[in-house]
Order: sequence, then C-alpha cells, then structure tokens
Amino acid sequence: MQQILQEIYEEIRPLLGEGEVASYIPQLAHISPQKFGMAVITIDGDCYSIGDAQEPFSIQSISKLFTLTMAMQNDDGSLWKRTGREPSGNAFNSLVQLEYENGIPRNPFINAGALVVTDLILTQLGNAKQAVLDFICALTDNLNISFNLAVAQSEASVGFRNKALAYFLKSFGNIYNNVESVLDAYFHHCSIEMSCLDLAKASLYLANKGLCPTTQQTIVTTRQTKYLNSLLLTCGTYDAVGDFAYRVGLPAKSGVGGGILAVMPNKFGICVWSPGLSPEGNSKAGTMALDLFTTKTGISIF
Ligand code: GLN
Repeated sequence: MQQILQEIYEEIRPLLGEGEVASYIPQLAHISPQKFGMAVITIDGDCYSIGDAQEPFSIQSISKLFTLTMAMQNDDGSLWKRTGREPSGNAFNSLVQLEYENGIPRNPFINAGALVVTDLILTQLGNAKQAVLDFICALTDNLNISFNLAVAQSEASVGFRNKALAYFLKSFGNIYNNVESVLDAYFHHCSIEMSCLDLAKASLYLANKGLCPTTQQTIVTTRQTKYLNSLLLTCGTYDAVGDFAYRVGLPAKSGVGGGILAVMPNKFGICVWSPGLSPEGNSKAGTMALDLFTTKTGISIF
C-alpha cells in the first residue's frame, strides 16, 4: 500500500498547481496549490500516508457528511420530507432548482440541502455549531480539531449566495430557526480544519457498518450506513458525480478546500488533499490520485 501511495505521488506531481484554489472564500486564496497529501486507514487500524497528510486543511463541504450523519441520528421523521436524495445536476451553490422544486433541495450535500440539515440539527440539538465539532473530535479521538474562525468569518463576509439560499429556503418554510443562526453554524462547520489522517479516521464508521473502531460506539445502524454511502456515491461530488463514480468507483465527499474523503466499505477510509479545483469544485489532483489508487490496487466497490 505504501509503495502504491509513493507511485501515485510521483505520477501526480506534474498536475499539482493545476486548477483554481477556492479564492471566492478570501482566506482560502492564500493556500499553496502545490500541497498534496493522502492517507489510508483500515478498519483494523493500519495506516498509510504520503506528502502533506498530517497538515490540517479547510474541510469545507466534507463537513456536510458529518452534519447529515448527526441529522440521521436525530431524525424526527422530517429529514427526507425536507430534502431529496437525487443528484442535482447543478452547481453546489445553485439557486435555480429550488424555485422549481418549492424549496426542497435535491440532496443534503448541495449547499441548500446542508443548510436545511443544519437547521434540523439546530432544532434537535440546540448548539449545532459545537455539536458537530464535538462529534468530529470524538470520531478522530483528536481534541485539537477546531474551527478556523478567520475562515468562518471570511466566508460569512462574502457568502451572499449561501445567505440568499438560506433566506429563499426560509420563504418556503424549510428553515425553522433564525436564518443567521443557521448560516453561522454552517460557515463554522465548513471552516473546521482536519488533516487527511484525521478525515480517513473519522470516516471509518462508514467502512465498518456504522461502528466507530476508535470508540467502539455505534454511530449509525448498518442500514443508515448503506444510506450514507449510497448518497455519497450519487451526490457527494456535485455535478461531476457521474464522472467521479466512473473514474474512482468509491462513495466520496469533496470540499472546496481541496479535500476528498472516500470510503471502501468493510476495508478502509481514504482521504486526499490538493487545493487546485475543477470547475465543479472537486480537487483535480485529488480525483486523479483516487482514480490511480483504485486502478492500481484493483479495489473499488465495483
Ligand atoms: N463553504 C463552501 C460554500 O458554501 C462549501 C462549498 C464546498 O465545499 N463545495 O460555498
């Protein structure tokens, strides 16, 4: 496995620097596009990594996986009435579909869907902002994981689309709480910083039928694990999801910080980070690295 990561790193090097870093969030504009890290952690605890795998980065939309997991844990039966389960075929921050579809976001991994999910856990748990961070710290057994307040503030200062989405959702009655509180929690969740090693570890419940190997706690049921992995496969990488599934063959969630977290059920979690993004908002080198990984190892869900 280590040898394969080394080969991938060498093959990927010429691609580093390609794509655009997410400069629409001013604080993320400064990140070097040359960064590259990758980590694999098995459910038995074996760990392999390469490059900048220990360096924390902005998880951005990868946080949507953890908020959805918490919403499933606390679902009062309204989750799937308030959001759909279909790929959107549109940009992650698009407004157009919401108007046609009466304020019901296509899925929980686009921004509109994540805002609804954040609202749901805000109702269920009160302090949604802190609850998601605590959940992530417990999954990784790492209390040093935290928000990057400058990133959260930076996004809040220019996040007009997300604000538009949240108020639009409110106009359809699909945000119950104060809109600004929902946005505040959402921006903070996106600003959480984790390394590839942290994220690979945090994903292990999805590779282990819902049981976290670190804490031995049941995070979700086997059935809910199937649901989450299926949603990752069909909706986790936005409107590049078809191409991503074709090339990589693993359930995955991307974020505009350049991270991609993927899961091989019953085996391992894998995370790659490189900040240069495709137009759809997925890490270019990261997608290539995962494509090479499943090709070289012959391991994918198919
Ligand atoms: N915070 C980002 C946004 O809302 C997250 C988007 C992403 O990572 N795709 O625009």
